[in-house]
Amino acid sequence: MTAAVSSHSCAPGMLNGEPTAGQVTMNSLPQPRSAAAAGVVTAAVILQNRRGMERKAFGRTGVVASVIGQGTWHMGESPREREREVAALSLGLDLGLTHIDTAEMYGNGGAEEVVADTIRGRRRADLFLVSKVLPQNASYRGTIRAAEQSLRRLRTDYLDLYLLHWPGKYPIADTMSAMESLVAAGKIRFVGVSNFDVNDLGAAIAVLKRERLACNQVLYNLATRSIERDLIPWCRQQGIAVVGYTPLDGFPRPGSEGLKLLTEIGTRYGKTPRQVALRFLTRAEIAFTIPKASNPEHVRENAGACGFALTQEDVAAIDTAFPAPRAPVPLATG
Ligand code: NAP
Repeated sequence: MTAAVSSHSCAPGMLNGEPTAGQVTMNSLPQPRSAAAAGVVTAAVILQNRRGMERKAFGRTGVVASVIGQGTWHMGESPREREREVAALSLGLDLGLTHIDTAEMYGNGGAEEVVADTIRGRRRADLFLVSKVLPQNASYRGTIRAAEQSLRRLRTDYLDLYLLHWPGKYPIADTMSAMESLVAAGKIRFVGVSNFDVNDLGAAIAVLKRERLACNQVLYNLATRSIERDLIPWCRQQGIAVVGYTPLDGFPRPGSEGLKLLTEIGTRYGKTPRQVALRFLTRAEIAFTIPKASNPEHVRENAGACGFALTQEDVAAIDTAFPAPRAPVPLATG
């Protein structure tokens, strides 16, 4: 089985527009057998840095981001945890998990401050920093103000990506217009959304005048695969990156058949069951994942969820053990 290489693959040796020491490897990911997984698996051009962390084109933005990123929800909530959280995120950066997801909501701004401590002294261009505006702040002026506050807390000049956290009461045209003003002012590079279904995405795209929608961040794990049915194929067509959140929820219990399967597959590649799960969840060329880990062992395990490709048989077996819904269901949220 051959797989076509993505038409929006990133330029070899370029990271976010800058030369890197990365090498390009072609990952011909296998095609699935089942209808539920159809339209998900395609080939992506993968850049691998010296640490082996994979990066790939972030939709049609023209930049690449690490396939495995780092979440920060519940970070910055307790001063006692601060040192441990900074250490975990720093370890992740050292391992190549340079795609960091945060939000004004997390720790009421505290998570952004944890990220600020983590990135101090790092080369900004090596990072892909994402934050989010809460829907209740997402008026035109409120969005601008929220972005500026996030930048202050993050102690950086720009965000790589700014998301509307979920659809809210303000007209999407106002929020998107503010996002376009932020791009024009150099405060954010790309515009995105989170928890948007296909209809919401269409509405956001329709009101954008100068920018393309870069990303939709949505719930995606082994127990919640409904986005594979319509949302992933739709986003692929539009060149929108799909970032899966809460990827480790719904992980199979000890002694379950599901865990046995992931263990058996992982053993063949020298990978853990969780690494197999994260690999499965990032097999679509537009898919990224952002597990959150404060424990260094978890960070290492998550960073190791790349550098191998699942076979067609592996994907089919996982698809059967953790079935996606056969009928359309409303978008699940975390
Ligand atoms: P998650 O990443 O699926 O799970 C986090 C939990 O899993 C933590 O308890 C963590 O423990 C543990 N863990 C991490 N790696 C592990 C490993 N290798 N083995 C065993 N346990 C492991 O859940 P999440 O935090 O909800 O989602 C990830 C990120 O997505 C969030 O942090 C946030 O940035 C984003 N998110 C976005 C939305 C949205 O609406 N856009 C919603 C939810 C989440 P330790 O911390 O102790 O290591």
